[in-house]
Amino acid sequence: MNEKMRKIELTLTFLFSASFLVLALAITFILTDSSNKVLQKNTAYLMAAESRQLELNINRYFEDVEETAALLFSDPDYYAYDATDPDLDEYTKIKQKEMISSRIFDIGLMQNFSDFGIIYSNDETIGWISQVTNAMFPEGGMYEEFSATIGDEEAGDGWSFGHRGNYDRLYYAKRLNDNAIVVVSFYNRELETVFVYPEQLQSMTICLVDEDDEILYSTDTSKIGSRISASVSKAESGAVITDSDLVTSNSCRNGWRVVCTIPVREIVRENLVNRHRTIAMILVIVLVLLVIGLVINYLISRSMKSIVNNLSQRAEHDQMTGLLNKADFQKTVSDVLDRNNQKMAYSFVMLDLDNFKKVNDTLGHAAGDHVIIEAARIIRSSFGDQYIIGRIGGDEFAVFRASAVFSADDLERNVCRVMEGLYAEFDRTFEEERERCMISVSAGCVNTEKGNYRFDVLYKRADQMLYKSKKSGKGKLITCRMSADPASAGEKG
Ligand code: GH3
Ligand code: MG
Repeated sequence: MNEKMRKIELTLTFLFSASFLVLALAITFILTDSSNKVLQKNTAYLMAAESRQLELNINRYFEDVEETAALLFSDPDYYAYDATDPDLDEYTKIKQKEMISSRIFDIGLMQNFSDFGIIYSNDETIGWISQVTNAMFPEGGMYEEFSATIGDEEAGDGWSFGHRGNYDRLYYAKRLNDNAIVVVSFYNRELETVFVYPEQLQSMTICLVDEDDEILYSTDTSKIGSRISASVSKAESGAVITDSDLVTSNSCRNGWRVVCTIPVREIVRENLVNRHRTIAMILVIVLVLLVIGLVINYLISRSMKSIVNNLSQRAEHDQMTGLLNKADFQKTVSDVLDRNNQKMAYSFVMLDLDNFKKVNDTLGHAAGDHVIIEAARIIRSSFGDQYIIGRIGGDEFAVFRASAVFSADDLERNVCRVMEGLYAEFDRTFEEERERCMISVSAGCVNTEKGNYRFDVLYKRADQMLYKSKKSGKGKLITCRMSADPASAGEKG
């Protein structure tokens, strides 16, 4: 039984642990997955807001450049002057150039421009047109090339980059008159100050691209001059998740766009710290649940044990009297006899109610039950815990005692003393039944010297004594003695 219980307990423990483990894995998976999704969504919101800000920043930056260039329109002297006019005398030319030059320097003083000047149709320049820009046109053609970048006919201006393979600056050109344009440029690394973004988006790449998806500036400088991928290019405004990237795209000046990308796997990687925290939290919860589970498991198996014990107790005991039933009385006594070879003396008593049938017949079966229950109580209280007591038939009981100290005489004396008390108690309890049905108790007893005895031998001898008692008028105890040598046995009435 214990073996079985242990197996059930182990199985339950295993099932509890396994189900908690599965639960933990499932929760981890669900939470990680949903936290990744939440993170992606949050990152998308943040990116959308940030890229809108970047769009405003770059537009502001371009507007500043455009407004600076427009200051040359404050006085017609600056834009009406035509260096290519053959009618102008040299003096006027020099004076005009000086004036315009000083104006240009005044305007551009605080700006980080790398070019800020006027180019005339004969490639003559006023102001500051850098050596790098000049060096790009060793054969001339500077005016022509920058004039061609004026795409907005109405405003007469345009933005450009990548002239002659030079990608390190952005140019702005604005028409002054039919023969002159103002050209402004700045290093595209200046855009670092425009494209600032929060720490949370550290894995974000920002690109400024033209209508042909060519990258004219990127926070990843290695990308400048290349093109953004087709899938990224397709992204519309707002944050869009392509196969592998979270993308935002915002239009700005000149048909250009600010395109931001974050690889989705980077977002998930950033989530790793959170994920570790989540996993640690889940493990703690699962451990707590596991402990609770094991405690419940322990409590369940304990109550199962007690149920099983209860059931086995019920099987071992006579339901009506609570005494051992015949089989278990025999087993219990036999165990004692087997264990205590030669070292013990024994007392074996058989008791049977006299004329009990009459109680059933006269007072009814319930009254008969009551008599059996009460008789069992009296037997138990009279003999006490020293004796093993069983109900071995309808109105028949057996009592057994083993003693390492007492002799057969001692045991017999004790049985006689107990029986006296029992008879007195019996008479007191069953006054009416005795009167109407003549019930009493017959008993037969065998007491042994120390020795080796078998259950059926003792049982048979006690039963013989009981039979004798019945034959000799009932209501009394007849004892006999037995030694290991059955020849020396004697009996007493
Ligand atoms: P004797 O004096 O020779 O012992 O005769 P008796 O009338 O006591 O009858 P006997 O011992 O031969 O038989 C016992 C009877 O007890 C038989 C059965 O009808 C009755 N009996 C057995 N079990 C129960 C029980 O649980 N409840 C009741 N009410 N009667 C029982
Ligand atoms: Mg009887």
